[in-house]
Amino acid sequence: MRAMLLERISSLEENPTPLRAAEVAEPVPGPDEILIQVGACGVCHTELDEIEGRTPPSQLPIVPGHQVVGRVEAVGSKGSTIQIGNRVGVAWIFSACGACKFCLTGNENLCRSFEATGRDVNGGYAQYMIAAENFAYAIPDVFSDAQAAPLLCAGAIGYRSLRLTGLKDGQRLGLTGFGASGHLVLKMVKYRYPNTEVYVFARSAEERSFAMELGAVWAGNTTEPAPHKLDSIIDTTPAWEPIVEALANLESGGRLVINAIRKEGDKQSLLKLDYPVHLWLEKEIKSVANITRSDVKEFLSLAAEMNLKPEVQVFALEQANEALFELKTGKIRGAKVLKID
Ligand SMILES: [Zn+2]
Ligand SMILES: [Zn+2]
Repeated sequence: MRAMLLERISSLEENPTPLRAAEVAEPVPGPDEILIQVGACGVCHTELDEIEGRTPPSQLPIVPGHQVVGRVEAVGSKGSTIQIGNRVGVAWIFSACGACKFCLTGNENLCRSFEATGRDVNGGYAQYMIAAENFAYAIPDVFSDAQAAPLLCAGAIGYRSLRLTGLKDGQRLGLTGFGASGHLVLKMVKYRYPNTEVYVFARSAEERSFAMELGAVWAGNTTEPAPHKLDSIIDTTPAWEPIVEALANLESGGRLVINAIRKEGDKQSLLKLDYPVHLWLEKEIKSVANITRSDVKEFLSLAAEMNLKPEVQVFALEQANEALFELKTGKIRGAKVLKID
């Protein structure tokens, strides 16, 4: 089968085409697993963190990709409740132990044995992949493969982030960074919290005008002060500076939710932290880690109910390097998806 392989860790600056198109053996599902013929796989910023070594794969080479939609081609020897031919999705959570204190309390995203799709196990930048049947989700019919793919990470983790803000209808929400996840959160907020105003902080003018098109009340640069203090802010940027800026924009008692698996360089920005301006008055910071199966299921049903269609930019499997490079260099409007035939 055709697959895009990551064989070594390097920065995109030094190596702008980190994935190699290769012909590899088709995987064989284990007893509890299913074989999926991949139709589409979303491209996520986390792939850059894997490629550049901030959250390195536990084995190399690896097939990246953790927003996978496809059809079940075969089931393992134990059989499955999922029928051959069904359309399913796979998300970042490939597996968790099922027995630890986190798994037993619905916090499987925090499991120490958490395995990530496309980082610890081969993912969806390929014609086929395997998944555990308990970690595959039915995809609502209203979505095409390419529309459904970004819902599995950008959308579902956006949903988790929004939940963790504790936002109430009518409170003001900030979004710092406006990529695949941010644009889906904005659409979700318009539906679920009709009286909430959304303020967007983004470096690129294109992202800011996209945010206004989608119904933000204000969009400014990352370093611009918001016209009002904000009750919650969700950060989806890879940097530190927006964190400091967001804390200054936060209302007393407000919460900053950081939806990023890793942060990059600019740590010196943290030296600007001034306790009375950025932290005092009971401001909170919470990070979002991974995702649970119930996040994915709840979000997919919400997305179907509200007909949440992401804006997608489609690339062929062999164009994965191009899509990643655009993501790295900030050419973003909505979500990037590989369509695989
Ligand atoms: Zn992701
Ligand atoms: Zn566990």
